[in-house]
Amino acid sequence: MLVLVDLDDTLCNTWEAGRYTVLRLIPFLLRRRKFRAFLYILTARYRELEQSREFHMMDLDKIVERLLEKIYAKVPGEELEEMQELIDRVFFSNLRLFPDAVPFLEGLREMGAKVVLVTDSSTRWQRKKLEYLGIKDYFDALIISGETGYSKLDPHNFRLARRLFPHESEVYMVGDRDDTDMRGGEEVGAITILVSRGYFRGRLAKHADYIVKDLLEALEVIRREHEKRAEA
Ligand SMILES: [Mg+2]
Repeated sequence: MLVLVDLDDTLCNTWEAGRYTVLRLIPFLLRRRKFRAFLYILTARYRELEQSREFHMMDLDKIVERLLEKIYAKVPGEELEEMQELIDRVFFSNLRLFPDAVPFLEGLREMGAKVVLVTDSSTRWQRKKLEYLGIKDYFDALIISGETGYSKLDPHNFRLARRLFPHESEVYMVGDRDDTDMRGGEEVGAITILVSRGYFRGRLAKHADYIVKDLLEALEVIRREHEKRAEA
């Protein structure tokens, strides 16, 4: 059995920690009279980033830097440094595993599953999260967009994960986003399980075989499907 798992908003509260970080950035921006950046946040223009392949391979602090450059052309280096320090500090002090993450990973281990993390964003940022959350040893392999050069908007990383374990005939994909995790899983013939939480919660799911409310339910689905196959 091969289980592909997403990190952000599936295993940990990235959206919540990110939102808190952006809230803490607002007084900083206002003090420096960066009103246009403030408006960018206020009017939720960041939604335009959802389909950007490039931004899916970057850190949060790199994203903020690039956005500021987009809005202002030139931002003083020390201001950027100060902001990056703030982002790093606030983000990581608010980042948590969801309470069902470890029971889910333990459950997969008990079933003897091969588990591969398939995640967007940069290498440094994602590895730092894994280190900080203490879950790296649960994975048989890590596939990070910043390392492969492809975001999860493309099927490339899912195919890579699939090819690592060619003899596993039963494949699952567990994630929170339909147009990346579920679509990519579908592409490699996985049973796709959407965990409905985080930033993308409530969006229309076109590629999910199952929609569940948490990871314990996802584990139940995997158990049931596995038993069905064992009987057949
Ligand atoms: Mg996610």
